[in-house]
Amino acid sequence: MRQQRLHVELPVMLAIGSNLGDRESTLRDAVHAINRIDGVTVDAASSIVQTPALKLSGIDHSAPAYLNAVVLARSSLEPHALLAELQRVEAEHGRVRDERWGDRTLDIDIISFAHLQVDDELLTIPHPRAAERSFVLVPLLQLDPHAHLAGIGSAADALAGIENDATECEAEPLW
Ligand code: ATP
Ligand code: MG
Ligand code: MG
Repeated sequence: MRQQRLHVELPVMLAIGSNLGDRESTLRDAVHAINRIDGVTVDAASSIVQTPALKLSGIDHSAPAYLNAVVLARSSLEPHALLAELQRVEAEHGRVRDERWGDRTLDIDIISFAHLQVDDELLTIPHPRAAERSFVLVPLLQLDPHAHLAGIGSAADALAGIENDATECEAEPLW
């Protein structure tokens, strides 16, 4: 059986998003649910940003907009065990997967896991699309203006190279 526990805690960066239901309350619940995972400790959560829905066909202004945030945590679960726990949290918040990039109550993606590189049928780390996404870069930079994305480099430089359609939201802190 795969060893699911690491002997150390490693820093992980998670991106959370919601465009269905009570989006803000779902994100807040999700941060607390992530912290309750045995082997995971949340250190910080960004403010919330709103972005238009991105579908396979492009930006869809007719779909409900997303609220997104970035969560910094530590994990002593190995990456696949962490993914399984995060997918359980998604499911507990009503996540269904039918259409790729379809509307969802809750998405939790692993953006990076310390310096680890994983690429198999279940998991790719660092997340290959993070640097193209204002809804990841803007909240990450809000947490740390000098943030680096694993495998990419400066998050600020990455943001300068894409269209920034994220607006910061007034909301109580998520964490
Ligand atoms: P995207 O990854 O482009 O944001 P998505 O979040 O909408 O797309 P999901 O439907 O949430 O995609 O997940 C599809 C599959 O992606 C999951 O079943 C999971 O196995 C896989 N996956 C691969 N890499 C990751 C990762 N870094 N974080 C979360 N899921 C991942
Ligand atoms: Mg995603
Ligand atoms: Mg996902």
